[in-house]
Amino acid sequence: MSQIEHAFALAKKVFSGEMTQQGAANHLHKVHKINVNSAKIMIAVYGRMVRGLEFKRALSAPDMNYYLATFLAEGGPGSLKNPVKALWEHIEYYEAKNSVNLNALRDLYATYSAVSEGFKSAEDIQGSFQKAVEAAAKVPIAERQNLLKSFGKLPRTRPVVSLVYERNPYVVVEVLNRAKGMCERCKSQAPFKRRKDNTPYLEVHHRVRLADGGEDTVENAVALCPNCHRLLHFGRAEA
Ligand SMILES: [Zn+2]
Ligand SMILES: [Zn+2]
Repeated sequence: MSQIEHAFALAKKVFSGEMTQQGAANHLHKVHKINVNSAKIMIAVYGRMVRGLEFKRALSAPDMNYYLATFLAEGGPGSLKNPVKALWEHIEYYEAKNSVNLNALRDLYATYSAVSEGFKSAEDIQGSFQKAVEAAAKVPIAERQNLLKSFGKLPRTRPVVSLVYERNPYVVVEVLNRAKGMCERCKSQAPFKRRKDNTPYLEVHHRVRLADGGEDTVENAVALCPNCHRLLHFGRAEA
């Protein structure tokens, strides 16, 4: 049994009252020659994670990965809720105190929080974010100023699942040729040339979205300047 496996197994016994923290730490020290204090930290971190509480002293990222993977293996995705919460509180605490970025732990947080909550699509996340922005705009200004400062400066990340359409490159070429550098909606010239090949910058848009069953064909596509393209996606219908 490796040191971290052993620590996890003994921490579980400490947490269930079968063993004292001191006894478990002494045992780890004897078998793996690790410092008794380090052993105590490994055990304490387990307990804080189970309860979803901030811990101050860190485990290495591989050790943290082992803990999270073992919670997942033993208890399923639902059992990650508290450990993931505790990990995030640790990251915020530690980064603020030491002016560092715990990137490896942040990656673990992103992965395991997605496993814990279920993977979402980028659109879902964008949608919830828009709702949050609308809700934030309704908070009275004084309260908003406090909330503004209550967030960490570096945002969390999360992995998403996405399905992408494998588009036909010949449709793009054909439509851009048809447009001859001119927006097919407002008829103005492309606003700039592409850095990579000096061709006019236009965007190929599907009249009926592929997501709504639109065809990836020349007939269903138009070349647009960026303004017209944004307008069609976000502007008012009559504009
Ligand atoms: Zn245009
Ligand atoms: Zn479009």
